[in-house]
Amino acid sequence: MRSRTPDRLCAEAVELAREAAAEAARPGTVGEYVRAVADADRVVTHLFECQEPGYRGWRWAVTVTRASRAKVVTVDETVLLPGPDALLAPEWVPWSERLRPGDLGPGDLLPSEAEDLRLEPGYSGEDSPPPNSAVSEEMQQLAAVEDADVTAGPPAAQETPPAAGSIAAVAEELGMRRARVLSRYGLHVAADRWDEAFGAKTPMAQAAPASCVTCGFMMPIAGSLRQAFGVCANEFSPADGRVVSLAYGCGAHSEAAVMPKPPRPAPPVIDETVVEPLPLRGPAERTGGSVEPDAPAEELGHS
Ligand code: SF4
Repeated sequence: MRSRTPDRLCAEAVELAREAAAEAARPGTVGEYVRAVADADRVVTHLFECQEPGYRGWRWAVTVTRASRAKVVTVDETVLLPGPDALLAPEWVPWSERLRPGDLGPGDLLPSEAEDLRLEPGYSGEDSPPPNSAVSEEMQQLAAVEDADVTAGPPAAQETPPAAGSIAAVAEELGMRRARVLSRYGLHVAADRWDEAFGAKTPMAQAAPASCVTCGFMMPIAGSLRQAFGVCANEFSPADGRVVSLAYGCGAHSEAAVMPKPPRPAPPVIDETVVEPLPLRGPAERTGGSVEPDAPAEELGHS
């Protein structure tokens, strides 16, 4: 328990503490004396300002002490500690919490944890999951080895297809013949995420002439989420290739507007009020082979 009154001899050992701080710090970076703090009986910490440019607000803390009934004060430890206004690095966050969508690059591996809430056991038809599954015994043994390296490798050997009519075949048809499948929680978080990006509350959907549920470019998906989502297949839509809420919509809706037809050309006008002379034969035919420029052309009149 801390003593409220600093030990007198320890409190007076300011110069001893300053020398210890100067020994630990870079020359000329131990600043003004701040104060003394009583840590315990005959244990006092002296604080000095740190004048290192990168350590604004930090303090050199030199703890001095003495033995019971002894008059000699000695240095216990010298450390650099942050003061109340110290410039500090942000709190450290584990990589798994720092990871953001889009961070995964080619060749990166992001193994899902065995306890991942987004997943739950599927029906594989086998007693044990594939060896590369996070819930397999092999992977758990590997994870238990400290500093185990995880390296990319070829996928596990393909399983033989189940016999028609077996439970495994039905499970495969339902998309459940995997070591793990999406849990209810995993479905919910995926649906929330998709709805936020391409849902009814987005500005695009609010201004759309109609929703995706009536759009010819919307492709249905399988599974329980088909009741609320589909995939947009319109290359001109901002959601092309994305999972969209059925309540989403955009201006490229297949029935958004009827394209105006190009104007039809006017029918040809036949003028029946004048006579148009049309030569039946060319000039050479009319002169037996020699052209007479001034010969009158045989003409036929139409009325
Ligand atoms: S084109 Fe627009 S309305 Fe049609 S499915 Fe895609 S996002 Fe929905």
